[in-house]
Amino acid sequence: MTRHALSRRFRKFLPRTSIIDQPESLRVYECDALSAYRQPPLLVVLPEDIAQVQKTMRLCNELRVPVVSRGAGTGLSGGALPHAKGIVLSLAKMNAVLEIDAANRIARVQPGVRNLAISQAVAHLNLFYAPDPSSQIACTIGGNVAENAGGVHCLKYGLTVHNITALKIVTMDGTLITLGGAALDCPGFDLLALMIGSEGMLGVVVEVTVKLLPLPETARVMLGVFDSAAKAADSVTSIIAAGIIPAGVEMMDNLAIRATEEFVHAGYPRDAAAILLCELDGSEEDVVAQVKQVRRILEQHGAVETRLARDEKERALFWSGRKSAFPAIGRISKDYYCMDGTIPRKHLSRVLTGIQRMSDEYGLRVANVFHAGDGNLHPLILYDAGEPGELHKAEKMGEQILELCIQVGGTITGEHGVGIEKMGGMCVQFSDRERAQFHAVRESFDPQRLLNPGKAIPTLARCAEHNAMHVHRGELPFPDLPRF
Ligand SMILES: Cc1cc2nc3c(=O)[nH]c(=O)nc-3n(C[C@H](O)[C@H](O)[C@H](O)COP(=O)(O)OP(=O)(O)OC[C@H]3O[C@@H](n4cnc5c(N)ncnc54)[C@H](O)[C@@H]3O)c2cc1C
Repeated sequence: MTRHALSRRFRKFLPRTSIIDQPESLRVYECDALSAYRQPPLLVVLPEDIAQVQKTMRLCNELRVPVVSRGAGTGLSGGALPHAKGIVLSLAKMNAVLEIDAANRIARVQPGVRNLAISQAVAHLNLFYAPDPSSQIACTIGGNVAENAGGVHCLKYGLTVHNITALKIVTMDGTLITLGGAALDCPGFDLLALMIGSEGMLGVVVEVTVKLLPLPETARVMLGVFDSAAKAADSVTSIIAAGIIPAGVEMMDNLAIRATEEFVHAGYPRDAAAILLCELDGSEEDVVAQVKQVRRILEQHGAVETRLARDEKERALFWSGRKSAFPAIGRISKDYYCMDGTIPRKHLSRVLTGIQRMSDEYGLRVANVFHAGDGNLHPLILYDAGEPGELHKAEKMGEQILELCIQVGGTITGEHGVGIEKMGGMCVQFSDRERAQFHAVRESFDPQRLLNPGKAIPTLARCAEHNAMHVHRGELPFPDLPRF
């Protein structure tokens, strides 16, 4: 079907302002934050309510037109990359907070509401929505659900999947279904959990009920300064082994620290090999006791300095550095490729050593800035897409980092999803049988495979090709690294 013919069909039930069909305007939607891959869609539609989403899905199902849902397009794995013969279904216009139920500590919101806007909407009630991706100023709750997003505070308060009680979904044939509810548990298969992290392949999220938590009485953040990344990493394991669950523990290495300081002047020591930001929250009494304990542990691990933010202003400043780290890296390199492997915490220093070794071998700089408490690594591989072969080199190196994560018992994504980016990693992490099961689940929702096709679950043929070219399951990318 041509663009204009399809556009005409949509005009029967969508306002003209909800259809984008001009080539220059479609360019805006050609990629998400994985900008190395670009593909303009056939058309973009922006429904304003659930009924319009349903009609959109029914039409696409009938005409066999692929549908890629899109929130804010901040995804880092190419999940919202359009299909050349498909539409992008943007949820941007469905951005209202529908209901705040303070007594039950829940809120019902539309999918296009920004993550941070939820906490802002309930702040006057001393409540907040806990999962806080660093992109929270822009990313949407619908995108968070599709990616099972994490953030600084997920170490203590859980990921998106732990903070959602119900979803309304429109399936590919236009049916509206409700998953979960106000109660803590529902009988039957847990389709709510299945939907969270399904990367827009099972349905379109059209309404989300989120849990709200009381704002802690107090929160303090401690900056630990280290002359070695390994010492910083080991102290993270010790903090948690001591029975303390900080609200967040984030780590940055020297390259990330310097880039961030240049950008936001957060007060980080430029010559440190690594810093840790450890936030403790709760009652005043508990926080005071935990601050002492954490300081002792950091010192035992050789911290050259520990600094407790003096007040709210300094606490916000310390966090502003961490939250601006990705854009800060964008200022020192033409391009960067953000990885997202998760490993058991105890292997942090070994894997960081492995990454450094790969960086030397490939001749590409790496900045590490990550959710250390969750063992969720974000090595940012710096490259220049203008240099022939550099993107390919960065991708090869990224794949090897993820394979190393699997080797130590980890996984190829902690929060950014698989998208198009980590299809190769899926071939390494899952067997043919396991991937066939994923396809079967998908087809039970969308038999024609029209929802976000070509993402997240590689076909058997693709994996056969990948495994012929790459390191095989169980084989170390760098054979001289210790096997864990
Ligand atoms: C600077 C920066 C920092 C980041 N930090 C973090 C972080 O700390 N933690 C983290 O988890 N992520 C982080 N991310 C990644 C990204 O912000 C998250 O993955 C976020 O959840 C994506 O939300 P979005 O609204 O932008 O979704 P999009 O990028 O638009 O879409 C992401 C995926 O969700 C699907 N989707 C979107 N909306 C819907 C819907 N309503 N129904 C069904 N499917 C849908 C899309 O098809 C796509 O597959 C970061 C990104 C950037 C650029």
